[in-house]
Parts: sequence; structure tokens; C-alpha cells
Amino acid sequence: MSDRVFNFSAGPAVLPLEVLKEAQSNFLNHQGTGANIMEQSHRGPVFDKIIQEAEADLRTLIGIPDDYAVLFVSGGASFQFSAIPLNLCKDNKKVQYIQTGTWSKTAAEEAKRLGICDVDVIFNDTKRVPTAEEIKAKVDPEAAYLYYCDNETIQGVEFQEVPEAPIPVIADMSSNFLSRPIDIKKYGMVYACAQKNFGPAGLTVVVIRKDLIKETFPFCPNLLRYSVLEANRSMKNTPPTYAIYIAGLVFKWIMSKGGLPGIGELNRTKAMMIYDTIAQSNGFWNVPAEETCRSMMNIPFTNTLGQDRAKEFMAFAKERNCVTLAGHRSIGGFRASIYNSMPVEGVEALVQAMKDYQQANQ
Ligand code: PMP
Repeated sequence: MSDRVFNFSAGPAVLPLEVLKEAQSNFLNHQGTGANIMEQSHRGPVFDKIIQEAEADLRTLIGIPDDYAVLFVSGGASFQFSAIPLNLCKDNKKVQYIQTGTWSKTAAEEAKRLGICDVDVIFNDTKRVPTAEEIKAKVDPEAAYLYYCDNETIQGVEFQEVPEAPIPVIADMSSNFLSRPIDIKKYGMVYACAQKNFGPAGLTVVVIRKDLIKETFPFCPNLLRYSVLEANRSMKNTPPTYAIYIAGLVFKWIMSKGGLPGIGELNRTKAMMIYDTIAQSNGFWNVPAEETCRSMMNIPFTNTLGQDRAKEFMAFAKERNCVTLAGHRSIGGFRASIYNSMPVEGVEALVQAMKDYQQANQ
């Protein structure tokens, strides 16, 4: 498959070649059923097996106990920005947010916009995450939850520890879900959209402690209610069946790579190849995030030549088959997103391009 590029897109992002080939082999005739799975009923036995297996495999991968529900939800992660306050702050009007970048800020703004709770932003910085002491000093034991984004996709800031709090901790893991082992018991809820680390856009996975699933505001739309989604096994309406099928294949692919410990080690190796190249560049390449909280998934970086010449490096990298390296439109520069499915060869090609470009331009 030499016509495949090394795709550094932040999402929708690269998927494992093995998964794409498996899906391709079933495209016209899913395992002898004579139809693609997307042409079949979500209530039929073929899809039923797919969704059940996907849930079981996800539970095995992460180690999710029975007192947590796994929900396959239609739509992007942004729906959860609304669903979280709607579902979780009914009896307790105060909610707390840690802001470390665009996505946690957007989530806090949506909670404020709904006007149903008192939104307390307890930390606001895009270059680092709060220390345990900073969190402890601000966290309110009476608040309904503490919300944060485990990996800020745009700023490249990733938590190394789960924030400790005596209230349910809610994590947006959209850009680092399944990238390393986590202790699910430390969270009230984690969620992630699929299009970065485990499938096509249109699907979000929510893992939530069952005792947090309660009756919500009467005006909360039915399809945003965790109680309704759980009671209907994620099938109150037609779920994104094809996306769930692909996600299930990705879960099996991760298992074949040594599960989360195996993939986590590989991800660290890939990220350090880029960070080391930057550190050894005598200041030609730079990373905005502080070293203690640099992301293993999304690496924003700049060079000393400035934004005017950014396109030049991207063209240089493209000649080496490395594409979609532009930084997010809000901050410019470059960004390498190196999710689970980015092969080591892709990272090797990128760091070689960075070294060659520096040599030719400094
Ligand atoms: N959270 C994070 C961390 C993200 O990276 C994104 C998407 N880039 C979102 C939330 C929003 O996801 P969606 O576009 O699926 O709503």
C-alpha cells in the first residue's frame, strides 16, 4: 500500500491499515450476510453481536467494572459539553472546571450558556496543568463534579495524573482515549469521540459510574439522557452502526498490540522521537507546552522562521509523504498528531524531514 500517506491529522485521523483492510473485505458482503453491515438493521443479530463484542472488548481493554456503564452515543464529543451539566448537576447547582486549552474552555462555556448551574473555573492556563496542591486548594466538596480535558488537542497539554477530588471527576479523553492504561475507578465519567483514536466521526463513547446516572431536568432531550441511553443499551434510536463496527475492529487491533500497556509504550517512544529532535535543534524547533505536561498524542511546534514560512516546511514534509501538519487555525505553527495508528515509520519520516529542513534553512 505505498500510496498511503503518513497522516498527522488531529482528527478525523489515521486508522490502522489492518482495520481498513478487514472492513474492505466485508464491504460488499459482511461475513456471508450478503450486505454491508451499514445496510442491516441495528436490531438484527449481526449488529447485536458487533455492539456486544465492542462493549466487552472495551471493558477488557480498560478494565471497566460492572458498576460502570458503557454507552455508544451518536454525534461528536461536543454533545457531551451539554449532556454533562444537564445530567450531572441537577441537585447541586455548582460545577467546577479546569481550563487548560480550547476544549475545556468550550465545555465550560457551554455549561455557562445553559444557565442551569454555577460554573466555577478553578484553573486557567494553556501551557501547563494544575498541581495537586492547586486543585486541592480550589476544589469544593459541595460541587456536583470536577471537569477537565485530559489531553488538549490544540495546545498539546496532557495531564500526567488524574486530578484528585472528593467529587466525581469527569474527563474529556477525546484525543488520548485508549492511548495508555488508565484507572477507571478514579473517574466518575470519561468520554471520547471516535474520530481520533478509535474510529470514524459520528460516535462518542461514554463510560460512566452507574450511581451518577439519575433523573435529569425535564427539558433535557431524551437522547442526551444517560438514563435513557443506558436503559436502551445505546439504542433508543438508530446508533451509528458503521462507526461502532469500525470501533470494535480497532479495539481488537489494540488488543493484538499488547493492549493499553503495549500501545502506551509505543506511543511514548514515538512522541519522544519528536520531542528529542526538538530538544536537540538548538532552538530552531520549539514546543509551547511545559515539559512536565507535554502531550504524547498531539505535538504543536514552531520554528524560528515564523508563520510566513510555515507553508514551506509543510511542502518539504509532504515530499517525504508527511501530510496534514498545519497547527490549528487558532494558533498557527505546526502540529503532529501521532495517535495509536500512526506507524513508527511515519514518525521517523517526520523527524528526518525536520532535521533536513533545519540543516537547509538555519
Ligand atoms: N474534545 C477534544 C479534546 C477534542 O479534540 C475535540 C475535537 N477536536 C472535541 C472535544 C470536539 O469533538 P467533536 O468535533 O466530535 O464534537
